Amino acid sequence: MRDIPAIDRIDILNKARHIMRDNKEDFVDTLLLEAGKTRTSATGEVMASLNRVKMTMEEARSVFGEYIPGDWSEDTMAKFALVVHEPLGAIACITPFNYPLFSVAAKVIPALVAGNTVVVKPSSDDPIVALLLARVLEKAGIPGGAVNVITGQGAMVGDRLVSRDQIKMITLTGSTGVGKRVASLAGMKKLHLELGGKGAAIVAADAELALASKKVLEGCLKYSGQRCDAISRVFVEEAVANRFMELLVRELSSWKLGDPRKPSNSMGPLINPEAAARVQALVDDAISKGCKLVRGGKHKGCYFEPTILDNVPHGARIAAEETFGPVVTVIRVKNLNEAIELTNESRYGLDSCVFTNSFYTAWRVTKALEEGSVTVNDAPAHGVGYFPFGGNKDSGIGREGVGYSIDEMTRLKTIQFNLAPAGLGKTRQTPKM
Ligand code: NAP
Repeated sequence: MRDIPAIDRIDILNKARHIMRDNKEDFVDTLLLEAGKTRTSATGEVMASLNRVKMTMEEARSVFGEYIPGDWSEDTMAKFALVVHEPLGAIACITPFNYPLFSVAAKVIPALVAGNTVVVKPSSDDPIVALLLARVLEKAGIPGGAVNVITGQGAMVGDRLVSRDQIKMITLTGSTGVGKRVASLAGMKKLHLELGGKGAAIVAADAELALASKKVLEGCLKYSGQRCDAISRVFVEEAVANRFMELLVRELSSWKLGDPRKPSNSMGPLINPEAAARVQALVDDAISKGCKLVRGGKHKGCYFEPTILDNVPHGARIAAEETFGPVVTVIRVKNLNEAIELTNESRYGLDSCVFTNSFYTAWRVTKALEEGSVTVNDAPAHGVGYFPFGGNKDSGIGREGVGYSIDEMTRLKTIQFNLAPAGLGKTRQTPKM
């Protein structure tokens, strides 16, 4: 891959983009069947992946490197340096179930643009769409051995993959537990970890409540809450909490749970029965500790009802643990200071958002939160435009994003030229007085 001219690498990726676009419906149907996504959400993921391929190819400029003149420092007066990006070699791309196409594309395409090879380990819950993408790359002319996919339980194949010396970088999107295990086995490899989150929405007393309730619900319920950027705690200032709850409940009537193949349904099942049982345990725990169950609260098979909990107490597990289910967890607070303090208490630091009509409140809250990303007046969203995303604390290491990913998937080499032997190097002139 390193020896294939960049223009040819880009040509292959461009062909792959066209093949994928021509077979878009196969990707949509696969996401619908193996991940339980609604058609709207599956189509959104395919379009976002196609867009990511295009943007990443266009961003290839970020591998160009840098020229640094030497005459800005006494000790490099007669020199200059070229800082070049080099491919790392083989990169392990380990991906989660919730965006089984986008998260593979967001790792594989920048890795290939930068001249690396990849070994993809997709989620065992929905690995087929990753195999489809690999097939497309093969058809587009990627050389044999440059794109590899291994399936199998992470706990079995994962350990062997991440501890191999031939792997030079691991980019993993998944839970914090798996991230920590991988980090402990990786040794001297570059690590990029996109891990769990406990996104907060802070609703200030001066917020546009109609907007806040609509966006909060979307942030909690889209893909049944199985998103790292999902809102999983809602801190509402007491002064507006009753009105906010009324709007939230009214808004809920537009969400329909059911077979995701029916266009009238906006929410489908959770990924597997264990996920439904885990969310049920979190909801039951919160109810037993005194919260008010406003709507939902039960599951049948993998289908979990859209659920609203009010007045969730501080000690409830759902106030601290990642929910990954369709639950709106409302916690009433006295003021914004309390909301900031509770948000920052979390072991996670991925995404949060704040709803307010005051620029000063927005500035104060966004600066104070220990998150990788904070959104004002909208639910958080990953992988949009050229914006970088990634977490702090237990939410990960590094940033993903179009140019940011390419950057992470190269290493820098500094090549220094000494011009003095040829008499070309600058020497210091004594300034004339
Ligand atoms: P997961 O259980 O951690 O699995 C993620 C990937 O790691 C899967 O491919 C899994 O394979 C593999 N794996 C498991 N054990 C491994 C090991 N010992 N070595 C190497 N790989 C191993 O996560 P998930 O349930 O699929 O996804 C949900 C999680 O991902 C949530 O915590 C969510 O917050 C996080 N996530 C974070 C972001 C972000 O941007 N920060 C984005 C999306 C999701 P198997 O499936 O075969 O076990």
